[in-house]
Amino acid sequence: MDAQFFASWIEETARVVTDNRDRLTRLDAAIGDADHGTNLHRGFVAAVDALASDPPDTPGRVLVVTGMTLIRKVGGAAGPLYGTAFRQMGVTFGSKQEITLADLAAALEAAVAGVRKLGGAAEGDKTMVDALAPAARALTEAAHGGLKTEEALDVTRTAAEEGARATVPMQARKGRASYLGERSIGHLDPGAASSALIIGALRSVAGV
Ligand code: ADP
Ligand code: MG
Repeated sequence: MDAQFFASWIEETARVVTDNRDRLTRLDAAIGDADHGTNLHRGFVAAVDALASDPPDTPGRVLVVTGMTLIRKVGGAAGPLYGTAFRQMGVTFGSKQEITLADLAAALEAAVAGVRKLGGAAEGDKTMVDALAPAARALTEAAHGGLKTEEALDVTRTAAEEGARATVPMQARKGRASYLGERSIGHLDPGAASSALIIGALRSVAGV
């Protein structure tokens, strides 16, 4: 996986976030302040612009530029958290030109660690961590198991989607939704939903 692959991931993410902007905002309207879709749409469109105007030549730079753009353009909780996640992945790649599945797994684990450190959320707190952490675990296992890229990203996407769905019965303990207490129960967490889309976009660009 080269710089072009990761630039395509960000483009595909911008596309699915655009398609799901209103859905993400509706999810955030139920347990937050109805800005998650518009926040992410603004951020990923800006990231695609930044990558197009000055194309980075390594996978690491693609993801660092993406992360820095998200931090700059997206307000609220999700901007700094996703910004940190992408930046952390890019830093983990370093100056490598070609990324293996094992490199990608290590980077996703580092992204999750960065999000947990910044936001203080653990699994079960009804946040993006509930989708990202199982995805990272699945990818690590798949990479060690010698799966092909497409198969590995298939199980990674499934883990993220299942992790997101599992937030429905949870009570939020972090972020805005936690102000609702028990009333946050019964709703899909918007950040977990967007994380599943981002991981799904990674699967999509890996081909069939
Ligand atoms: P805000 O809550 O500031 O309006 P967004 O609506 O863009 O920001 O994002 C909300 C999402 O951010 C939540 O659904 C949740 O997944 C995630 N989130 C909020 N706080 C945290 C945190 N401390 N750790 C991890 N994720 C968090
Ligand atoms: Mg919000």
